[in-house]
Amino acid sequence: MINVTKSYLPPQSDYNRIIDSIWQNHHLTNRGPLVQKLENDICKKLGLENLLFVSNGTIAMQLAIKALNIIGEVITTPFSYVATTNSLLWEGCKPVFCDISSETFCIDSSKIEALITPRTTAILATHVYGIPCDVEQIEKIALKHSLKVIYDAAHAFGVEYKGQSIFNYGDVSTCSFHATKLFHTIEGGSVTAKDTEVLKLINLYHSFGHIGDDYFTMGINGKNCEFHAAMGLCNLPMLDLLIEARAKRSDLYSSILSKAAITRPGMPESTKYNYAYYPVVFESESILLKAKETFLKNEFNTRRYFYPSLNNLPFLTEHYSCPISDDISKRVLCLPMYFDLEEFHIEKISKIINSIV
Ligand SMILES: *Cc1c(COP(=O)(O)O)cnc(C)c1O
Repeated sequence: MINVTKSYLPPQSDYNRIIDSIWQNHHLTNRGPLVQKLENDICKKLGLENLLFVSNGTIAMQLAIKALNIIGEVITTPFSYVATTNSLLWEGCKPVFCDISSETFCIDSSKIEALITPRTTAILATHVYGIPCDVEQIEKIALKHSLKVIYDAAHAFGVEYKGQSIFNYGDVSTCSFHATKLFHTIEGGSVTAKDTEVLKLINLYHSFGHIGDDYFTMGINGKNCEFHAAMGLCNLPMLDLLIEARAKRSDLYSSILSKAAITRPGMPESTKYNYAYYPVVFESESILLKAKETFLKNEFNTRRYFYPSLNNLPFLTEHYSCPISDDISKRVLCLPMYFDLEEFHIEKISKIINSIV
């Protein structure tokens, strides 16, 4: 079975070499030397002022919500992974869903202001598939209405917008380093904050709220460990090669599918993309279901990323209408995409699509 993704694994000897040091120093977790080296190396690689390595991309958002003192209503995207909405609910905030752009599939910035009420404190948007949100317009709205901005950049590791890392936009940017993501540490995530005071608070929160014997605030355990950092240290030097390998595969899909009756999200200008996913939008849900079934018969596992549209989650108490997100989420499928996906598989997958649509 060919899966929609496959985690990159470094040569086992590389990993063993790095974790040897753990047997020397007996430092297993609690911000050990490997965690700190990974943070420094990612900052250098992506051109960031700061980055905190945390347990996962979900706790990263929860820490950000807490540290920015976000309460009440938060305007958010319905087109993302469920963790985006859950992190708000878990922190006691009310998600207010704003429909997406039919072009980029990210939150539609022109629809945000109509949803602002006196209880709105923030915007939580996802750079979905690694496609940058309309960050300029969102910043303008946030300044005008004194709102905080968090970007769920779980898909956007390595993405640049206007010459700098996409993590540099917003009050806080979070990422996921989960095994299914482009850059991974098996489990893991990160927080990058504009304001160093916010970063300090997140640092405190992620480690129980105390430093040694000094107890400052309520905290949680959002730390990550040396073994996960070691995986990151093996994978980080591979980043450019992994992106290049995906770009080639993405181009191959696009060339074979050039005449197919499918659409693809558009990329804002001045974006250096990471090719994290290869989503295609079919003309109808029934065609999508037929394609998915045919793929399965041929041993290809595709994913309905992202379905359902999050405004329709069954455990929400309030209904929001997001017709574009509802429509796209019913018709979008992510095709297999990873560093060493075979060319003949891409050809076979594309031929299946060409035969169906
Ligand atoms: C994967 C993902 C997350 C969750 O990250 P974890 O590290 O698995 O907690 C959050 N948001 C989006 C958009 C994701 O794809």
